[in-house]
Amino acid sequence: MGSYLLAIDQGTSSSRTVIYDHATSVVASAQQEFPQIYPQPGWVEHDPEAIWASVRAVTEKAMHDAAASAPDITAIGITNQRETTLVWDRETGACVYNAIVWQDRRTADSCRSLQLDGHEATIASKTGLRLDPYFSATKLAWILDNVDGVRARAEAGSLAFGTVDSFLLWRLSGGKAHATDASNASRTMLFNIHTQQWDDELLQLFNIPRQLLPDVKDCAAEFGVATDPCLGGNIPVLGMAGDQQAALVGQAGFESGMTKSTYGTGCFVIANTGREALESQNKLLTTVAMRLNGEVTYGLEGSVFVAGSAIQWLRDEMKIVGSAPETEAIAQRTGVVDDVIVVPAFAGLGAPYWDPDARGAILGLSRGSGSDQVITATLQAVAYQTHDLIAAMADDGISPAVIRVDGGMVANNWFLQFLADILDTPVERPVNVESTVLGAAYLAAFTAGVLQSSEQISSNWRCDSRFDPLMSSDQRTKLLNGWTAAVSRIRANG
Ligand code: ADP
Repeated sequence: MGSYLLAIDQGTSSSRTVIYDHATSVVASAQQEFPQIYPQPGWVEHDPEAIWASVRAVTEKAMHDAAASAPDITAIGITNQRETTLVWDRETGACVYNAIVWQDRRTADSCRSLQLDGHEATIASKTGLRLDPYFSATKLAWILDNVDGVRARAEAGSLAFGTVDSFLLWRLSGGKAHATDASNASRTMLFNIHTQQWDDELLQLFNIPRQLLPDVKDCAAEFGVATDPCLGGNIPVLGMAGDQQAALVGQAGFESGMTKSTYGTGCFVIANTGREALESQNKLLTTVAMRLNGEVTYGLEGSVFVAGSAIQWLRDEMKIVGSAPETEAIAQRTGVVDDVIVVPAFAGLGAPYWDPDARGAILGLSRGSGSDQVITATLQAVAYQTHDLIAAMADDGISPAVIRVDGGMVANNWFLQFLADILDTPVERPVNVESTVLGAAYLAAFTAGVLQSSEQISSNWRCDSRFDPLMSSDQRTKLLNGWTAAVSRIRANG
């Protein structure tokens, strides 16, 4: 049955393939960026062929570097940028339009009119999502309504819709498999997270022909057999999950209350809420965290649009640091900043504010303020925004005992200590901070029988460093009051 697992992580800016042995040690890994397309302000697209070519290239390279051929690989797991929407021809496999990326805002008006027509509550109660262009439904409707001839072809059953997971599965299987998993389906806004079915009322509301939709399976399931020549043989696809849900699996977040926070370009927090689909009173999202053996585990999710990208801003626009890792030593020597406050609301504010028109600011400058204060305050801002999410979760009844972190920014020890201080909660960084792609490998390993239980994943999880809160409650309160005041000054729709 082979001794390796192959995990594909198709992200927003790059594609990656990692080959693991059965003990989930990395054997080989390859990554490739692909172009972003910005046809108009607020529009973001990917060329589906560029996505596919990059996945093929990194898969071929990782297999080459591991000196692996198809029979050496037990199973494939796929994780992906979520919500991004594709439509392709079932005969030719050609897409009818570029992939409309999750960040794309072109359907803001159609969301607004659905809201005015009073559909928000129904949508929220069925899908756990907020009526926002972020999710797939209005993007899919846009393709049907704006690309010549597409609606008629969709109604005739000759087209297929998918998020990136389904698209890759279709291509890998040579057009034989059209399926998705429940975690990806839960981000389309067409899937009822309580019944675990595509929802007829939602399909009608968004005017989506049912013939377009993929089958929805567990995250660990038999999705199909990959036969693409880039693999040099046949390998079953046995795991699938959206990137944030895969990270929760990679972090072994199987028990209710367990919470992971991923710090890449943005920050995404998911708390496992067990069998309960907790409805947020604080504008957080309810989502399928995972579905294994037919059992759904729900999650509460919140995100901060700007996390690591604020550090890129310091480097690329402000030009006050040479590289992201330098911020650690600068913050170390500067210490906690309590006068200067950076609010990096470059793209509005996400949960729990949902204020798309807010913009960033630097407040509290005095004659002595310099770049070191601004850099340190930017790291602090990422922690404050995490605090706002975690506080919203706590208000909804979920208070994690520990936060498990991953993503590129968690290399920064100063940031993690400050995060623990501001959250007043211990923060743990695992040895393997690549939780997303690891989660995809775990899911495939489950179906293949390489892993028999989630306990094996839990015991596999190793802590690299734990950061315990050390800050006095007076200082924490003072800092958070300063932050809250700063946020209220920059909000457009406060
Ligand atoms: P993504 O998967 O979203 O591309 P990664 O998980 O690779 O992101 O994380 C990269 C981000 O982390 C970048 O935005 C970068 O600015 C930030 N980053 C990397 N190292 C550090 C560091 N030592 N301190 C602060 N931020 C960092």
